[in-house]
Amino acid sequence: MTATKTEPLIVLDKVDKWFGPLHVLQQVDLSVKRGEVVVVIGPSGSGKSTLCRAINRLEPINGGTITFDGKPLPAEGKALAKLRSEVGMVFQSFNLFAHKTIVDNVSLGPIKVRGEKPAAARDRAMKLLDRVGIANQANKFPAQLSGGQQQRAAIARALAMQPKAMLFDEPTSALDPEMVGEVLDVMASLASEGMTMVVVTHEMGFARHVANRVIFMADGQLVEDAPPDEFFANPRSDRAKDFLSKIL
Ligand code: ADP
Ligand code: MG
Repeated sequence: MTATKTEPLIVLDKVDKWFGPLHVLQQVDLSVKRGEVVVVIGPSGSGKSTLCRAINRLEPINGGTITFDGKPLPAEGKALAKLRSEVGMVFQSFNLFAHKTIVDNVSLGPIKVRGEKPAAARDRAMKLLDRVGIANQANKFPAQLSGGQQQRAAIARALAMQPKAMLFDEPTSALDPEMVGEVLDVMASLASEGMTMVVVTHEMGFARHVANRVIFMADGQLVEDAPPDEFFANPRSDRAKDFLSKIL
């Protein structure tokens, strides 16, 4: 079964997730089209990270279904490894390998997982580092880079796997303020090139200007799902109004 270009890339249908007694995802329905940028906002503890982690099956779900590119998420084995390479993930903490150079960080996955030849993988890694603006840092180790540069390296590393979608979980929350912009710029340019993206962020400027849709979550529920203009001008729920009044 091959997915057609018009069908959504990511579909969550009545997804439930429990952590013990805690119902952290409650009947969540969400569909993300190819090339769409969905920004997820909501208070701390509302289930945003769990939602992201469920999409590449870092968290198994307890009910409902998730399909990616027309197929249910695989539970294990090669199919799961393939899914993880097709869904790039960038976290708040950059998670680079400390003892590898930046270019090795980016080329390692393609060599080990995709079986690319080292020279070719390195070549592609250099192009990706150039694309995120840090080609001149290629031979340094992560600790020698600023937070913003490390996060751009983490984005390049995810892109090296040639993902069909990218998930970003608060990618700028751990950065000094002066470095937030350089990471958001890279993300905005990815979006303009047509990457399908799910982005958890508190950066409302990014949500306004880059998102096609804004999802507002609270207490494990997807409370609002609207284009940014509509959401920011006219949030419908009291919870979204309250959240926006605190952060804007
Ligand atoms: P957010 O990213 O919106 O802050 P999370 O998805 O991280 O929210 O968490 C949702 C809820 O699930 C929170 O109450 C959190 O404490 C809880 N939670 C998250 N991960 C775990 C876990 N591994 N075990 C138990 N509870 C968890
Ligand atoms: Mg979170």
